[in-house]
Amino acid sequence: MTIVRDTISLIGNTPLVRLNGASDATGCEILAKCEFTNPGASIKDRAALFIVQDAEESGALRPGGTIVEGTAGNTGIGLALVGNAKGYKTIIVMPETQSREKMDTLRALGAELVLVPAAPFSNPGHFVHTSRRIAEETDGAIWSNQFDNISNRRAHIVGTAEEIWTQTDGRIDGFVCAVGTGGTLAGVGLGLKAKNEKIVIALADPHGAALYNYYAHGELKAEGESVAEGIGQGRITANLEGAPIDTQFRISDEEGLEQVAALLRDEGLCLGLSSGINVAGAIRLARELGPGKTIVTILCDTGFRYLSTLYNADWLRAKGLTVLPWLER
Ligand code: PMP
Repeated sequence: MTIVRDTISLIGNTPLVRLNGASDATGCEILAKCEFTNPGASIKDRAALFIVQDAEESGALRPGGTIVEGTAGNTGIGLALVGNAKGYKTIIVMPETQSREKMDTLRALGAELVLVPAAPFSNPGHFVHTSRRIAEETDGAIWSNQFDNISNRRAHIVGTAEEIWTQTDGRIDGFVCAVGTGGTLAGVGLGLKAKNEKIVIALADPHGAALYNYYAHGELKAEGESVAEGIGQGRITANLEGAPIDTQFRISDEEGLEQVAALLRDEGLCLGLSSGINVAGAIRLARELGPGKTIVTILCDTGFRYLSTLYNADWLRAKGLTVLPWLER
């Protein structure tokens, strides 16, 4: 019997699953990291753990201290569970547009939840700036600062990328994912390029984000909008700086939702929209690279976090999105 010694040891080392539908449709091997198997049910547990460990090592975070973060929710959930396991309080600032389930999960974990209206980054009330101010005003607190704290991407250089390399035996031709902070794409990209610079690193960008135009034409310019939570970036964060991106795709919510539906219906995987956008990106990259290639992407979080949104017919209808046929019954 193998015994894992604590919650923190459950973070990372996620399985890599073959997506049979996407693989068969493209003639490629499309493989996905099951990040929903982390204890907080998302990829962000990895960044949360590295941010906390690095803050402990630098002496910034002391016993009984407080961790403050601005987040779409998943990083907050990761920080709250790592904080609980290590004896720190957490204060989580989140835009009120995010899913109800993420808010309830944060409250259940005992985090102090501060909801702010959604606002552009240039607005001082934006969740990131609000979290920085709260950290500055709270005794014994650190600001986790996931967007510009590169402990985040280090989690993916030494964790996610190494795991992908080992799990594929080095037989990987491409990696693709979307960007929230950029920790995953830049970290996995840097880690894999260090192993083999021929591996193609691709961005899957939702509408409403500015990175597609930046990497395609050198201009940070957003177009359209998206309901995807946790992704869609308008600036080059510190985590994104120097990210080795070879090619980029812009993926609509409908294209991502089609994959969310296919993964659920055909493979029994219940996922969030960023995972659907990632799989749509993997299919686009497979078509660009041609048959016989191995492409890896990320299944970022569990769909159980979006039962009131992506898996709710009324919500989908109100957003003008296609309703999954089985929700109509
Ligand atoms: N998908 C979801 C659901 C997320 O919460 C996040 C993190 N904000 C991402 C994808 C993107 O990950 P990263 O921050 O590493 O770019």
